[in-house]
Amino acid sequence: MAKHAINAAAYVKNDERMHWHDKALWFVREKRDKASKTIPEWEELRTFGALIKSHTMNKLDYYLEEFEKNAIKNGIKVHWAKDAQEHNEIVYKILKDKNVKKLVKSKSMLTEECHLNPYLENRGIEVIDTDLGERIVQLRNETPSHIVLPAIHLKRQEVADTFHEKLGTEKGNDDPTYLTRAARSALREDFLSAEAGLTGVNFAIANTGGIVVCTNEGNADMGVSLPKLHIASMGMEKIIPRLIDLSVFTRLLARSAIGQPITSYTSHFHGPIDGGDMHVVIVDNKRAEFLASKDYAKALNCIRCGACMNTCPIYRRSGGHSYEYVIPGPIGSTLAAFKEPKKHNSLPFACTLCGSCTNVCPVKIDLDSQLYKHRQDLGKNGHLDKKKMFSMKIMTYVFERPKLIDFLGKVGRKIMPYIPNKLIYNKFNIWGKTRDIPELPQYSFKELYKKMKEDENDK
Ligand code: SF4
Repeated sequence: MAKHAINAAAYVKNDERMHWHDKALWFVREKRDKASKTIPEWEELRTFGALIKSHTMNKLDYYLEEFEKNAIKNGIKVHWAKDAQEHNEIVYKILKDKNVKKLVKSKSMLTEECHLNPYLENRGIEVIDTDLGERIVQLRNETPSHIVLPAIHLKRQEVADTFHEKLGTEKGNDDPTYLTRAARSALREDFLSAEAGLTGVNFAIANTGGIVVCTNEGNADMGVSLPKLHIASMGMEKIIPRLIDLSVFTRLLARSAIGQPITSYTSHFHGPIDGGDMHVVIVDNKRAEFLASKDYAKALNCIRCGACMNTCPIYRRSGGHSYEYVIPGPIGSTLAAFKEPKKHNSLPFACTLCGSCTNVCPVKIDLDSQLYKHRQDLGKNGHLDKKKMFSMKIMTYVFERPKLIDFLGKVGRKIMPYIPNKLIYNKFNIWGKTRDIPELPQYSFKELYKKMKEDENDK
């Protein structure tokens, strides 16, 4: 069985947890629906968002250079990293030069993508994730299972157990307010003692040279206001041309993510604090390859709202960790299959092609079409396993011959009812593991249609 299917099969074994996870995500999806309906021009906003992003990606070199020029004018030091390794080396060098021993970090999927935490920890720098969900998974040595709700896979009793073990909270006390206060007071110490703060970048504005970070907890502001050193890690697709364009995205982002009108903190950073230093590290890590691709370039338009995950029937029922990629769900599947096709060849198949992700995406990324295209490319480029390719070849042979389909259908309908169950439901029939073959009809659709037409003519 394919990798994702194995992980998903393990996840759905716990029926109660699977339904609980599904319900939790669906609740967020419904909140998104309600919030989007409060804006009559919602569809126009989505169109604007998609157009601004596509325009920017078409002129990415121009806008990145404009951003760099203006950021330098603002006193920001700009660095360029071609891949994850270079990003980590640059961040480490900045921290080492300032003799930093402790770094507080707000949520950044890019640093997860670059595996920055272990890189720095191996070099003696303590890294504290300050977003509550990220802190919970960090304390458990886990990775986020969702890009906006990193600990959505955990029940509050599990969080209580982790906090009891790591932060010394009362055993069994799973009151969310109590747990949040405990995390806040522990983090307060970290904010006060850290020598540097690192943030992600939600938007980088070319015409001002500033960056914007959206959080609901204010942790990014705390993390970069107390220490004198601020490092911002930014994927090169985060650029938008003008400050005025930001209004389109702030209206789309929070509503699409969790059904909020706006994130609680939309923080603008346009230079270092008094007496401090600010660095922006702009990372490629294969984004340029996406840009050059005809079929997958649109994936760069993503504003990381997570809506495609909340609506995806596969994600909701298989959990984020089943994807084994830093970004799960539909957008993660297309990114992963493009970056490492061999390793993530099962992800484009973790999709019903229902198109719900495309329908909710605030910047109209054609996610289901991309996943469908990946399936073909994986096959063409020899990235699928031999068994799958063999069965696909047989299906292609049959589907290209309508007469053969008619014949096999006829024979199948006649003999199937007499085949013993043992022969149908065996280890080679993965499909039949969780499904029963439906009762077979007497006629095929074609035969029924022909019969209907004949009956009509006889009347
Ligand atoms: S692909 Fe669209 S829906 Fe999914 S996270 Fe990105 S912006 Fe949101």
